[in-house]
Amino acid sequence: MLTLFDTHAHFPSELGRESSDFPPFELEFMAVGGSQELNASALAASTPYKALGYDRDQLDSDRAPIDYANISAVGEIGLDYHYSPETRTRQIALFEEQLQLACDLGKPVVVHTREADDDTLGCLRNVRARGIIHSFTGGPDFCRSLLDLGFMISYSGIVTFCAADNVRETARFVPDDRILTETDSPYLAPVPLRGKPNRPEYVYHVAKFLADLRGTSLEAFAAITVRNARHTLCSSQS
Ligand SMILES: [Zn+2]
Repeated sequence: MLTLFDTHAHFPSELGRESSDFPPFELEFMAVGGSQELNASALAASTPYKALGYDRDQLDSDRAPIDYANISAVGEIGLDYHYSPETRTRQIALFEEQLQLACDLGKPVVVHTREADDDTLGCLRNVRARGIIHSFTGGPDFCRSLLDLGFMISYSGIVTFCAADNVRETARFVPDDRILTETDSPYLAPVPLRGKPNRPEYVYHVAKFLADLRGTSLEAFAAITVRNARHTLCSSQS
């Protein structure tokens, strides 16, 4: 049976699906934290793949110590200047602290970046972590710079959205061994389910769309993206 990997789901997200507009498949997924609440629900999720960390919107929150012993990655972490450009300096400090932590632990990172291309590249050059750029929404130049730094590029339902031509352009050239699929559920449901609560199973639509875009079969694309995800992430069961 086909296997697909959702590298980025937040909980509570509903597992399963509401409609039968795609065939059955095996789902692997990573539960992703980023705040005390999201970290707790990621820890409770039924998957060996979990990312825990403190994201850019946690500057003023209590950041309880995390037990990173058995986790797959540090995340999500990163910079977002869309909603809060005024906290730029503090976001960078927290991001670099989390990147350094991941380096010290020998774990990959899960990076969020929005309207912060230059600073994201600056931080990733300062602290040479490895890992995933999640829900990639940038253009070709940013994508190439991230590939040069060794990062994996993960696409969410955004790649299926009408206005995302620049994102689709990057999804055509990211090499086979550097591409991943995700949902970012419960957000960002892909076309044709846009506007509904997203579910990890809907990674099917992201994978099918990307396979068509790259001129390959879903089976072949599923195989490379599952292999990439397993290779990038530490499993707590291994
Ligand atoms: Zn997320």
